[in-house]
Amino acid sequence: MNKKITVVGAGNVGTTTAQLIAEKGLADVVIIDIVEGIPQGKALDIQEACPLWHSSSRVTGTNSYADTADSDIVVITAGLARKPGMSRDDLLKANADIVRQVSENIAKTSPGAIVIVVSNPMDTMVYVAWKVTGFSSNKVIGMGGVLDSSRMRSFISVELNVPPEDIEAIVLGGHGDLMVPLPRLTTVKGKSITELLPETKINEIINRTKNGGAEIVGLLKTGSAYYAPAASVVEMIEAVFGNKDGNLPCSVYLNGEYGISGVYAGVPVRFSLKGVEEIIELELTEDEKKAFIASAEAVRGLIEKIQA
Ligand code: NAD
Repeated sequence: MNKKITVVGAGNVGTTTAQLIAEKGLADVVIIDIVEGIPQGKALDIQEACPLWHSSSRVTGTNSYADTADSDIVVITAGLARKPGMSRDDLLKANADIVRQVSENIAKTSPGAIVIVVSNPMDTMVYVAWKVTGFSSNKVIGMGGVLDSSRMRSFISVELNVPPEDIEAIVLGGHGDLMVPLPRLTTVKGKSITELLPETKINEIINRTKNGGAEIVGLLKTGSAYYAPAASVVEMIEAVFGNKDGNLPCSVYLNGEYGISGVYAGVPVRFSLKGVEEIIELELTEDEKKAFIASAEAVRGLIEKIQA
């Protein structure tokens, strides 16, 4: 029997995620949205492509959580996307209400699911999903670092003209303006980029990575990025299913790791079918640690705002 993945939100990120899951034949997919017709139409379109992809995934669309029952993984992309000039934090309250309502439904219909949260501001939304579902924290994870690292790798790949698979990049902290790209631990075939690129170029790449989302919002004018975000979600799904080894930077609940407790923030994680199997604690320099703590504390500030 195929695994079952529900994607909540039939917008750009949700449907592209559903498409990639179906194209790779990773699972059956249910797309759910509040708008009638859109999830059904998008799902039917993807289903009709499956024969061409040699995929046996079943793809359906719905407006009812009953159809999502007993999902192995639920991906939450429901919410409003950023408009030009709007920060992720502006989305805070509106998206918190949406994620709350979605999480209540998931807890009832898919009590055994692993939940991957995409909706922004993501580190705060994943906290909301964790609280509202009541699921164990290793089963509620946020997508941010995989995307930020992929952006950084793509910029380095173009700059040095090397294949992206030779590059490992690490971006820690919240998926916001204070994210912490780590050039010291970003390597090409094992060699740190600090030995391969001048400092000014590295700083440019760091800034472009931090502003990666805004750069695309600025170009698109309406809506935000979705190809790389959806591919990042699918990378996490494949890690959970054991198709891929290695650590992925994801937003997880920290309980003393990196000296932080009570918030979600991005750190390297090893996955298994149970969700987060292990949080990897990297040795950080004093400056890196300071930047990481500032980023995690900014997430705490947002969590406090929605609790107020
Ligand atoms: P979109 O506007 O294309 O789609 C959002 C969808 O959510 C819409 O179809 C809408 O009808 C649906 N929706 C709204 N309320 C709902 C509810 N209560 N239940 C079910 N569906 C509901 O937006 P998008 O581009 O797909 O982005 C989705 C979210 O993901 C945004 O919050 C965006 O900021 C965020 N995002 C995060 C990352 C990341 O790295 N974490 C990357 C890209 C986008």
